[in-house]
Amino acid sequence: QAKQEGRNTIRLFKQSNSSELLTRLGLVHELNQALEQQAFIVYYQPQYSFKQQKVTGVEALVRWCHQERGVLTPFHFLNEAEEFGLLSQIDQLVMKQAFSQTKTWQDEGYTELEVSVNMSYHLFNQVNVVEVMKQLIRESGLMPESICIEITESIALNQVTHAFDTIKAFQALGVKVALDDFGTGYSSLSQLRNFTFDRVKVDQAFIRESTGEDMDAKFVEAIIHMAKLFGFDVVIEGIETFNQLVFVRNNYADKAQGYLIQKPVSKEQVQLDLKFDDRTYPQS
Ligand code: C2E
Ligand code: MG
Ligand code: MG
Ligand code: MG
Repeated sequence: QAKQEGRNTIRLFKQSNSSELLTRLGLVHELNQALEQQAFIVYYQPQYSFKQQKVTGVEALVRWCHQERGVLTPFHFLNEAEEFGLLSQIDQLVMKQAFSQTKTWQDEGYTELEVSVNMSYHLFNQVNVVEVMKQLIRESGLMPESICIEITESIALNQVTHAFDTIKAFQALGVKVALDDFGTGYSSLSQLRNFTFDRVKVDQAFIRESTGEDMDAKFVEAIIHMAKLFGFDVVIEGIETFNQLVFVRNNYADKAQGYLIQKPVSKEQVQLDLKFDDRTYPQS
C-alpha cells in the first residue's frame, strides 16, 4: 500500500516537473522571439512633486505585448527573463524607448521632465555598464540630469565594492541613482549610510495598509524623516488613496507615485498635467 502510494507520488511529481519545464522552455523561446520582434514596450507612471505641485517625472516600466495573452506585466516574465540572461537586453530596450520618449516630451514643452528606469542585477554587474549608459544617454540626446537609475538593495549589496564604484560612476555622468523598494531589505539603515544615493523610494508595502494612525504609519513617518535627514529626495510608492497622499505630504515626503495619481499606462495615455491643488486637499 505504502509502496503503491510512493510510486504514485513519484510519478505525479515527475509529471508536474516535466510539464513545468516545458512551460518554462516555451516561455524562454517566446521571450527570445519577443526580443527579435520588438514586442517589449514601455509603460509610464507619473511621479508627483508636492513642492512643485506638478508631475516632475515618470517611471518607465516594461510590458510585453503578447500576441495571445495581451499586455503582460513583469510578474509574468521578469524572473524567467532574468534567469535566462535576457533582462540586460530588455533593460537596454526599455531605456532606449524611455529616453527617446522623454526627449520628445521635453521638446513638447515639459522641459524639466525626468525619467526613471529600473536596472537589473545583470546589467548593473556587467563590466561595461557605465559605457553602456554613456552610449544610451549620448544617443538619446537627453541631459543626464533628466535620468534616474533605480536599483534595489539586493543589487547594491551583492558586490558592495562594485556597487559603490558603479553608483559613483553613474553620478559622475550626471545621472541620479535611486534606492528602489526601500524598507524591504534586511539592512536598510546601513545602506543609507554606505551609499551615495540621490533618492530613496519607500516600498509600497508600508503605505498599503496604513491609515495614518497605526504602526505602519509610524514606520512610514520614521523612514521619511530619516531619509530626509540624510538629504535624500524621498518618493513614496503605492499611493492609492487620498488619505495616503495627504499623510505622506504632511510628513514631508518629496514625491508620490501610485494608482491615485495614475496607473502605469502607454505613452499616449500618460497625464503630465495632473494637479492636486489646495481645493483637492487641505493645506496643513
Ligand atoms: P518597481 O520598480 O518597484 O515599480 C513599481 C511597481 O508598483 C510597478 O509594478 C507599478 O505598476 C506598481 N505600482 C505603482 N503604483 C501602485 C499602486 O498604487 N498600487 C499597487 N498595488 N501597485 C502600484 P510593475 O510595472 O508590475 O513592475 C514590477 C517590478 O518589475 C518593478 O517594481 C521593477 O522592479 C520591475 N521592472 C519593471 N520594469 C522593469 C525594467 O524595465 N527593467 C527591470 N530590470 N525591472 C523592471
Ligand atoms: Mg522602480
Ligand atoms: Mg519600487
Ligand atoms: Mg518592486
